Amino acid sequence: MKKTEDIAARYSRFVMPTYAQRLALVKGKGTRVWDADGMVYLDFVAGISVVNVGHCHPRVVAAIQRQAGELMHASNLYYNDNQAKLAERLSRLGLEGKCFFGNSGAEANEGLIKLARLWGHETGKYEIITMTNSFHGRTLATAAATGQIKVQKGFAPMPEGFCYAEYNNLESVAMQVNEHTVGVLVEAVQGEGGVVLASDAFMKGIRALCDEKGLLMLCDEIQGGMGRTGNWFAYQRSGVQPDACSLAKGLGNGFPIGAVVSTPKLADVFQPGTHASTFGGSPLACAASLATLDVIEEEGLVRRAGEVGNAFRARLAEFVDKYEHVKEVRGAGLMIGMVLDQEAKPLTQMLSEMGLLTLATASNVVRMLPPLNVKDSELNEAFDILDEALDMWHGGGDAAEEGEASK
Ligand SMILES: *Cc1c(COP(=O)(O)O)cnc(C)c1O
Repeated sequence: MKKTEDIAARYSRFVMPTYAQRLALVKGKGTRVWDADGMVYLDFVAGISVVNVGHCHPRVVAAIQRQAGELMHASNLYYNDNQAKLAERLSRLGLEGKCFFGNSGAEANEGLIKLARLWGHETGKYEIITMTNSFHGRTLATAAATGQIKVQKGFAPMPEGFCYAEYNNLESVAMQVNEHTVGVLVEAVQGEGGVVLASDAFMKGIRALCDEKGLLMLCDEIQGGMGRTGNWFAYQRSGVQPDACSLAKGLGNGFPIGAVVSTPKLADVFQPGTHASTFGGSPLACAASLATLDVIEEEGLVRRAGEVGNAFRARLAEFVDKYEHVKEVRGAGLMIGMVLDQEAKPLTQMLSEMGLLTLATASNVVRMLPPLNVKDSELNEAFDILDEALDMWHGGGDAAEEGEASK
């Protein structure tokens, strides 16, 4: 691990330690990645639901290369054809309004929050109800929107204008509504929260509550969107339509880009001078995103994510009966959580050493987010690695218990 150690040494001297890395990845192709010392892994993290059409997809690489030689960036002071085309395609996927582009998830949510506040400004409405265990980003406003104390701790004073309701508890949301409430922000599937699905009744109930009280329903689709759950957007599972949503992660397959997508109702709330971004929606970022959308459409990856993901989760569910410490397998499409009765980190560490990258989330959940075009053979390979790792992980305890029992 010589090269990895050199990189780690430079990190510990010069990179602020906001993460606790172990591996140095240097190359990717499809669902595989290679580390600096030549070890190869099956990547079921995919940059946390970013690399949805696989690493270095030739269509996306070619689009970036072509656009990089043409025009990378000019400014939003000028029209750019790619941004117009991308906005049209995203709008036509569902909300039929207009788009604003930024560069990340947090920025997309900041845009969504500002859009809601501007819409409510004249009537004195600004407060947004978000959910416990949600995740909306790490900027000050999006950390304030995030219903997790650990994300806010140490950064007081937090921006005002957020309050929290219990996820999947409509009564709790209704109780937070007051004369200053402008909207409700919700993830149709909580990713960082541990792959927890909103019930259809909860999503439909929020829609009805917002209609009744004149509030905006806002969906954070940053992790669950772009086909991941077997629909273009995770909210579509519940048959509801929000007033606006935020996108990022999978939107550019690794090229940074985020977006606010609105219905016609909110399409013209932002006017010249009210919101802006230097880099947002550059010709280069939009070229990457347009190519990503082409691949998702041409390879039929939204449907594939649903079918393959549901079948894979059904197989993983065998582990619940087979292994004592596996309590539940849940998710939608290829957004998968395997719930343990204890810390997931030791298991994800073991899986990584055995060549499968996964994420430990919400302390006891092993989260898997493979590219949407993961091959059947790769799913089989991952299943076998999981089976072997779980067997080893349980082995010590079971063997000891059996030993005790047979005495
Ligand atoms: C990752 C994520 C964000 C934040 O995105 P960044 O690009 O890291 O700022 C916001 N919301 C959800 C649901 C996410 O998964």
